Amino acid sequence: MHAERTAADHAHKVLVACPQCHTLVRVAGERLADRPRCARCKAQVLSGQPIELDAAAFATHVERATLPVLVDFWAPWCGPCRMMAPVLDEAAHRWAERLQLGKVNTDVEQQLASRFNIRSIPTLILFDGGREIARQSGAVDLASLTRWLESSLGARAPR
Ligand SMILES: [Zn+2]
Repeated sequence: MHAERTAADHAHKVLVACPQCHTLVRVAGERLADRPRCARCKAQVLSGQPIELDAAAFATHVERATLPVLVDFWAPWCGPCRMMAPVLDEAAHRWAERLQLGKVNTDVEQQLASRFNIRSIPTLILFDGGREIARQSGAVDLASLTRWLESSLGARAPR
């Protein structure tokens, strides 16, 4: 009985990478809504804001953390990417307890872009447990993005 409860509690732990110092923070699943903070730098780990990811931060947030990460592969010169930015800001805010939003500048992080075979931007890739579970190329509005996230994550939008 006791062992079962321990196993269930363990299963509900979520590993989230801190947006500031990129330390991995263990959060109980039911506490994701309680604005958990990083033990090292005290930043809010679920800030609801996009996080710039270089290769090292990408490895921590996407491959080691267990919270899903939506990654926007973009570049500063790309008009559709700039149009998409406020939509992604809003999605990051709305889905703060369900995922992190990472941004990869494909001009700077060319190895990541080639590793994930990015042929056009913006391209959005949804990762869960380090694995790509969905991909979307081209700019979309918030309603389409929300539907895509809902069907990809098998969950309703939080708000
Ligand atoms: Zn931190």
